[in-house]
Amino acid sequence: MANADWLHVDVMDNHFVPNLTLGLPVVVSLGAATDLPLDCHLMIDDPDRWAPPYAEHGARNVTFHLEAAADPVRTARAIRSAGALAGIAIKPGTSLESCLDILPEFDTLLVMTVEPGFGGQSFITEALPKVTEARRRVRSGHLKLIIEVDGGVNAETIELAAAAGADMFVAGTAVYGADDPSKAVEALRELARSAMPADPAS
Ligand code: ZN
Repeated sequence: MANADWLHVDVMDNHFVPNLTLGLPVVVSLGAATDLPLDCHLMIDDPDRWAPPYAEHGARNVTFHLEAAADPVRTARAIRSAGALAGIAIKPGTSLESCLDILPEFDTLLVMTVEPGFGGQSFITEALPKVTEARRRVRSGHLKLIIEVDGGVNAETIELAAAAGADMFVAGTAVYGADDPSKAVEALRELARSAMPADPAS
């Protein structure tokens, strides 16, 4: 997996989502074992309390869910002041409008393209208009954001996400289930690149 740009780590607490994965101690161990930047996606309750320590322990990007946060702006500022990028994630049923006001406080917008909780689900194309609208706002100079899609990303769906305006793609099953994971990363990257719309600003 050394040719991936970031290593995406799904942290689930069995409260915000009905699944339990891993937490900060394992993330710290992962960080010691890889040179890849860690992209921590916190599918947990009370991120206001639990997210900043991931930044303090060296994660490159710490994304938490809008639906779970009591004070997302304060949490984003705490993450950034600990030296990481701050990300906000929205579930398929959450509108982009519900986080537009606070997006300037963030570096990453993660649009979930499955319901968070489990790998191996099918890509929800209905989430893509949120990606398109976020990209339009970035293009018009109102926002500076990495737009990340997470859930059901594979060789069939990654071009849709790239064409909609995403520039970061989380692939789980499509990579870990492949005979040659690093080949799968490269193939997905090429598909995404070829489907990305040309940036009129560049
Ligand atoms: Zn994730």
